[in-house]
Amino acid sequence: MKLQSTIIPIFRLKPGREKSVHRRHPWVFSGAVESEADANQPGQTVRVESSSGKFLGYAAWSPKSQIRLRFWSFNERDKIDENFFYSRLQKALSYRSSSNMASNAKRLVHGEADGFPGLIIDQYNQVLVLQFLSVGMEYWREVLIRQLIDLTRLECVFERSDTEVRRLEGLERQCGSILGELPPNFVIKEHGLEYYIDVKNGQKTGFYLDQRANRAKIQEISNNREVLNCFCYTGGFSLNALRGGAKFVTSIDSSGQALKMAKLNTKMNGLQEEKTTWMEADVFESLRKFRDQGRNFDLVILDPPKFAPTKQNVEKAARAYKDINLLAMKLLNLGGLLASFSCSGAISPELFRKILASSAEDARHDFLIIDTFSADQDHPQLLSFPEGEYLKGILLQKRT
Ligand code: SAH
Repeated sequence: MKLQSTIIPIFRLKPGREKSVHRRHPWVFSGAVESEADANQPGQTVRVESSSGKFLGYAAWSPKSQIRLRFWSFNERDKIDENFFYSRLQKALSYRSSSNMASNAKRLVHGEADGFPGLIIDQYNQVLVLQFLSVGMEYWREVLIRQLIDLTRLECVFERSDTEVRRLEGLERQCGSILGELPPNFVIKEHGLEYYIDVKNGQKTGFYLDQRANRAKIQEISNNREVLNCFCYTGGFSLNALRGGAKFVTSIDSSGQALKMAKLNTKMNGLQEEKTTWMEADVFESLRKFRDQGRNFDLVILDPPKFAPTKQNVEKAARAYKDINLLAMKLLNLGGLLASFSCSGAISPELFRKILASSAEDARHDFLIIDTFSADQDHPQLLSFPEGEYLKGILLQKRT
């Protein structure tokens, strides 16, 4: 794509639709846009004005998407050029380097929160993994890659822009090497445990970095407990439970590939394999089987995939969350703990809590809220963008 930044097309919003922009929300939906004058390149920067012609901000134009505009800036004096992105990238990197996350794998850029709507950059030790998820970010692709290499001095950059959301932006899926070769069987270290990372075929960009602090928490509360880890992926919570002194850890995932890595991870960390069992199975079915068998646990972890990818799926997702939580609550011994997560942005923390309350009602037990969880600090949230608060969790204790 050719970058053109000299002539900036002007977009006007419909009357009254500037309110969310005043709240500094980074998106404008298609229905709020009155006129899309003279823009011709998807992703190019446009000047956004209110219906009365007042400056609101500069945004990336995404003609195919319902999210028609994504703001770069609300400051009229800003120039959306290479320097603008360079200093934004510097800021994102310096935020990460100033916080200690006890890991050599971290998210360097987390979309909207870092001022890059639709961009994910994860660092796994010496490897950078990029996801361009909006046409506005795709527009600046070459510039950003160059700047990123300049700032990090890393020599292996891989792209995992192979998610469904690209289609909503009118973009093809893309996956492959940008610079260098992926090292074979490479490993990251987090809170004293090592994990193999499969950047090419793994889920997300290879690992669920957002759960880092919560995995450490599980290590703290697992001692002497019979643990059930549902949706275990490559074993993050399971390994932490073992390291934390769990009596036994049962882990379930539907992905055989993920379980293979989980077993390798257990071995690599010198953890007691005889204290684990890995089940390639459906969690919904397995929980029912355990219920019928009268099995009990002292700690159940539920970290399911995104049941509600959009607002349209909320009702169905709520039923699924209620189902697994109800089953898990029944499997717990008295005094047992339930660490329950939702990574659906469309399910608010309040709604999630209501769903759990409704599960507890049907389970006919009292639960105490011991703790709450969110994504780790390299996944910051923008105060003006509640949609960004996608990962939430609650730690409950079965009381009576
Ligand atoms: N807790 C993990 C991440 C879990 S991601 C960590 O910290 O790394 C969700 C996992 O659920 C994925 O590994 C996916 O393969 C698995 N999964 C999705 N649907 C499932 C189902 N119905 N039954 C079992 N596993 C499922």
